[in-house]
Amino acid sequence: MAGHVYLPVGHLPPWARLSEEKEEGMRAQQQEKEAEKEGGGGGGKRRKVAADVTIDLDILDCPVCYLLLRPPIFQCTVGHTICSSCHDKLQEKCHFCSLPTVYNRCHMVEHVVESVKVACSNCNHGCTTRIAYYQKEDHEKGCPHAPCFCPETGCGFSGPTAMLLEHFSGKHKWHSPKVTYNKAFRIRIHVGSTVLVGEDGNLFLVNMTMESRGGVISVCSVQPHITGSSFRCKLTLSCAEPSFSQSMEFLMRSSNLYDGFPKDCFQFLVPKVLLRGTGTSATAMVGVTVTPQ
Ligand SMILES: [Zn+2]
Ligand SMILES: [Zn+2]
Ligand SMILES: [Zn+2]
Ligand SMILES: [Zn+2]
Repeated sequence: MAGHVYLPVGHLPPWARLSEEKEEGMRAQQQEKEAEKEGGGGGGKRRKVAADVTIDLDILDCPVCYLLLRPPIFQCTVGHTICSSCHDKLQEKCHFCSLPTVYNRCHMVEHVVESVKVACSNCNHGCTTRIAYYQKEDHEKGCPHAPCFCPETGCGFSGPTAMLLEHFSGKHKWHSPKVTYNKAFRIRIHVGSTVLVGEDGNLFLVNMTMESRGGVISVCSVQPHITGSSFRCKLTLSCAEPSFSQSMEFLMRSSNLYDGFPKDCFQFLVPKVLLRGTGTSATAMVGVTVTPQ
């Protein structure tokens, strides 16, 4: 596997053979020279100029377990490197030399893995972070620019929540009222989707489907990561004639909607007699309170 990475020029050890094209190499050298000119030679200072080079990313894997090398990294007396968890298991014998050995920290390779910087996969969605290659996965698990998905069947749109909101109201014409937290408000829910827009930009998707017993309402919080903020939701329904009232309070399930609207949300049933209209044009007037946890 090869990929484009940014390296401080002149920071690669001899074992990291770059398969860069000649032209790219010359361009890098040129950039390096220019940087030296600008920085007055640097006097041995670490050169921070980035060059667009191609590197075989496999060399950044532990050769024993194939997981990404990350500090601390160890080497045998000959120079074979292994990751820290393999080091814990293979302390006395090198996997390659098959000889008794003493492992030491390999600071040189640690510097290399620290300096191989890559772009976040969400760069197209506005993330400008460049992270060490071995930290990419961890960063992306919590990247605030990670996309959420349009749950509509056959629609492949994905993007950060702000773009998703534009898409929901522009493309699908879903009603998208703003909500003030901790405050009850009444809203007319239609069959299909309604988007509630929190005062801090968080999105909540309300879904109503029709079943033989009435309208079934589910609410979920739209977030790129499961570890995001959590919200409680209170739904109320009341009617004077016939006299009826019910309420339900629950912790909202959060989802990036990758698999569509989540199927395992709490369900709030609106009896048929309290719906206005029938079939897909049925609506229900429901009280909603959203509370951040
Ligand atoms: Zn390993
Ligand atoms: Zn060895
Ligand atoms: Zn990111
Ligand atoms: Zn869509």
